[in-house]
Formats: sequence, C-alpha cells, structure tokens
Amino acid sequence: MPAQEKVHYALTDVLAVLGIFLPPPKPWSDMCTALYLVHTEEYVDTGQLGTWVQCELDACHPADTHEGEDIEWSDNQPGAVMAWPVEP
Ligand SMILES: [Zn+2]
Repeated sequence: MPAQEKVHYALTDVLAVLGIFLPPPKPWSDMCTALYLVHTEEYVDTGQLGTWVQCELDACHPADTHEGEDIEWSDNQPGAVMAWPVEP
C-alpha cells in the first residue's frame, strides 16, 4: 500500500476511534475499490452522511474520478480513499 493511502487510512482510523466516523469497510474486489466518506452537508437529508460509498465502476476504469450511489468524487477530495488492489 503506497504511503499516501496509509495516511488516508491512518487519518480515517483516528477519526473512527474518536467516534466521528466509521472505519472504512473492506471494499468489494470485483469493482473499483476507491472509497469515499460522505461528509458534506449536501447529503444531510439523504441519510448518507458519515457512510462509506464504494466506486461502482469497473476495477480498471481510468482513475481520478469515481462514482457510486449517485455521488461523484475525485481522489484528491477530503474523505476519498484511493483504489488499491484487494485480494479476493
Ligand atoms: Zn473508481
């Protein structure tokens, strides 16, 4: 796991320990493994705030932007965890 991903995980782990957010789930391995922590106020009314969304695109789609559950995000947004290889 590259260092930048470790930092993402470390930060979200700390927030989870503090009870602010749930830790990132183990993503499904048959699609893109990028994750996004829904945390912006536009999702307060959708019930998605504080939940993790996994990218629903193909595992090898051109990276940078991801989408899942009607949410689009990019790797450099706060709350985004970049895709990484997952053992089946
Ligand atoms: Zn993706």
